[in-house]
Amino acid sequence: MSSLPDSVQARLQELAQKFSSALPDVIREVRALADQASVGRRESLRELRLRVHRIAGSAATFGFEEIGLRARAAENEIERDLATESPGPSERTTAALQELYRAAANPMTADQASSAAPRATTVEPPGYDRVLILVGDVPGLPEDFGEQVAVFRFAVSFAEDILSLPDFCSVQLGQEDSPYRHAVIMADAGHFSRQPARLRVLKSLRQEYREKLVLFLVGQEDDFETRLRSVRFGADAFISTPVDLSRFVDHIESFTGENREGPVHVLIIDDDPEQVSSTALVLQDAGMITSVVTDPSHIFQVLVEYRPELILLDMYMPGCSGPELAKLIRQNENFVGIPILYLSVEKDVEKQLEAIEAGGDGFLEKPIHPDHLVAMVRTLANRTRSMRYYMERDSLTGLLNHTNLKQQLENELQRARRMGIELVFAMIDLDRFKSVNDTYGHLTGDRVIKSLARLLSERLRRSDTIGRYGGEEFGVILFNTDAAQAHRILDEIRESFSSLRQTDGQQEFTVTLSCGLAEFPRFETAVEMGEAADAALYSAKENGRNRIVIAPVGDDLAP
Ligand code: GH3
Ligand code: MG
Ligand code: MG
Repeated sequence: MSSLPDSVQARLQELAQKFSSALPDVIREVRALADQASVGRRESLRELRLRVHRIAGSAATFGFEEIGLRARAAENEIERDLATESPGPSERTTAALQELYRAAANPMTADQASSAAPRATTVEPPGYDRVLILVGDVPGLPEDFGEQVAVFRFAVSFAEDILSLPDFCSVQLGQEDSPYRHAVIMADAGHFSRQPARLRVLKSLRQEYREKLVLFLVGQEDDFETRLRSVRFGADAFISTPVDLSRFVDHIESFTGENREGPVHVLIIDDDPEQVSSTALVLQDAGMITSVVTDPSHIFQVLVEYRPELILLDMYMPGCSGPELAKLIRQNENFVGIPILYLSVEKDVEKQLEAIEAGGDGFLEKPIHPDHLVAMVRTLANRTRSMRYYMERDSLTGLLNHTNLKQQLENELQRARRMGIELVFAMIDLDRFKSVNDTYGHLTGDRVIKSLARLLSERLRRSDTIGRYGGEEFGVILFNTDAAQAHRILDEIRESFSSLRQTDGQQEFTVTLSCGLAEFPRFETAVEMGEAADAALYSAKENGRNRIVIAPVGDDLAP
């Protein structure tokens, strides 16, 4: 297949060049805005958000991967500051901006970066940013409840009476430099019965902190009356005694979890750089991520690596027409489902229909109103997302299923190879799980599996991939991480898991896990990584279980 003419490539490169040479001025502007915002100018904080947002957009459009990522991270933090009425940029925002400045001081496109091979940096899991406040005597709590929830990155605090909470919250939750983003109050439902003063305090706390504050009421009696009363007290959830940790965490996740899905990812294929930038900007302004393909021969690589949820396709490009490209994409069974929208000035209905028959899902005529474009793209892309979710996930744990975990390993290996960085594939298997099932029953066994799934999701970074390999086996891909770092992270998870008190409702018990891991580039292909991790897991089992083993390099390389 022919690629785009050099003249087009050259124009895109020109734009990228322009972006990169304007960067120092742009960053100066950002610094000035951040300074103004830090002395309490709210307007500047809003401007700062827009400015950083624009950087994120252009950087993504022109292939400055790292700057794009840093800008987006900073934008997220600023957004949070705005949402939480923070008087200025928070510490997290300032830190994120520093990262952006650092990346911008050395602007590199993804292609350039692949030869420069950045080293792994962030491996620390996020700190505790949620606090559980136990008010008064909460009935039905296991003795070590505090330790147990700490596993899920909760700090724990105690208050004798709800009346003392306003002070606590204003310091711990309400300020820019407060340590917590969310507080979960847990109290006996009886704490509020016939206590108008306590109810008044509760009401004013809820008004002040809104979604930052979650109230769980615990009751020994689980009947309609008690539940109704707890709803009237404004509880977000009612939990009956004895309090079961996994139910508690399930509830918490629905209130404080990061289950908001990320932005929609759109791939734009167009030979006109100006059209590309204007379309990209409209979509980015609506909160979407855009990638651009200027050379159609790269299309499959981009589809695999970036997993866009929709393709916007130009009708006429030199070398290869839109409908031809659509046919080509549809002929690949992996991409029959991805929506393709044509975006073109073509007004001839016959030609539009032909294009759709070639494998398109719709035709948008230029010029198009931005709202219309955004609405069409969002609707179709969201459908892709929910379809993918159900196709790719395991129904018990919500993690990637076996097939997709393996696919993802291929993708991530490709990315790591291109960027010249390390990656770890780990296999985790629960120890003596057959006897857990035999002793406590299959349902309890399922709960144990879920608790590990949750722990992994809590502890690993968003850039890591977690899948259920099958049964009581999990697979984890740690991106940009070497074997020693992965060992540390997984060992911490191993220890947390082994101290997690499991229960079948009557008896308590603990379960351990074993893990084998293999590092790229010491092992090169997905198959080699899988086999090496599996062999390491086997040796962890052989050597007594409840441990992590790193796959040694092949015999020929051994000392
Ligand atoms: P080892 O420490 O050597 O891994 O011992 P093990 O008993 O865990 O190993 P084995 O592979 O022999 O047994 C795995 C058991 O896991 C068998 C099966 O009953 C159980 N299992 C697999 N999938 C599920 C599941 O989805 N739910 C439950 N509850 N149990 C499962
Ligand atoms: Mg097994
Ligand atoms: Mg096992």
